Amino acid sequence: MTILLKGLEVANTMTHTIQKEVDGFKEQGIYPKLAIVRVGESPSDLSYEKGALKRMEKCGIKTEVHVLSQEADQSEVIKIIKSANEDASVHGILMFRPLPKHMDETMIQEQISPEKDVDGMSMINFGKVMAGEVDGFPPATPAAVMAILKHYQIEIKGKHCVIVGRSTVVGKPVAMMLLKENGTVTISHSKTENLKEVCRRADILVVAIGRGRMITKDYVKNGAVVIDVGINIDENNQLCGDVNEGDCMDIASALTPVPGGVGSVTTSILAAHVLKGCKTQWLKNHKE
Ligand code: NAP
Repeated sequence: MTILLKGLEVANTMTHTIQKEVDGFKEQGIYPKLAIVRVGESPSDLSYEKGALKRMEKCGIKTEVHVLSQEADQSEVIKIIKSANEDASVHGILMFRPLPKHMDETMIQEQISPEKDVDGMSMINFGKVMAGEVDGFPPATPAAVMAILKHYQIEIKGKHCVIVGRSTVVGKPVAMMLLKENGTVTISHSKTENLKEVCRRADILVVAIGRGRMITKDYVKNGAVVIDVGINIDENNQLCGDVNEGDCMDIASALTPVPGGVGSVTTSILAAHVLKGCKTQWLKNHKE
């Protein structure tokens, strides 16, 4: 029997804890707030924005959304970011990526103050994840993977964790976060030889490749935990993961469904990060 690791259950538990902490802040006259920066109207940005706004509302976190047209100049994005950096009532900044091609995304994301960079875009926060420091912000998706493993009490210590994918937003940070929890980590990618064999050595298999249903039972060891980060649209216009869920049923001991798995937890991670930002900024202001 394969257990489904449902993201919504994790998200709701997190929301409950966050709500209580937010209430505590409000009693002291502090109102945690997230600023969202969106350029253009891409369906995936709009869908993520809708989910984020809904989750922040549930958590009692205020939001403000800054929208620019697809044709906007990058100086306009930078202006919004700088103003949010300086605004003491904003505790977190979320900018949707990718930005339009005429913009220098790497340069722009570095403009976000690391203290408000709740989706871990800046090199400072990336470096903190690599160094195993916990006072920064990891990107929301790998943090969601870790939250699911924690919620379902899946032991990481001493386990062989195989990551498929080595992107800066998912593969690399999740590998470092699993290592920090004392997993034995292997990172694989498109040039890995004998990928099936490598994956079959995993106690915990984390897949983030962007290839719909590529991971079949041939890649999965009996009893392994499979975390599917992939979000793809199949030939029938249906959302699907990188893992062929049906094929891996009864082979994996547990797996995250798509939809309803990792993706459902990311907005709760953002909310937790806004709260963390709020605490850090409050402590800093009261030390000075
Ligand atoms: P990415 O930047 O395109 O990276 C994909 C990685 O997968 C690369 O490292 C690539 O290897 C590897 N790969 C591609 N094809 C492979 C193959 N046939 N065998 C082995 N490795 C292969 O993608 P990403 O941003 O990490 O995202 C990965 C997936 O997660 C996508 O489906 C994306 O939509 C999804 N995602 C979900 C969330 C969420 O909230 N659930 C958030 C972010 C992303 P090379 O490095 O060798 O090219």
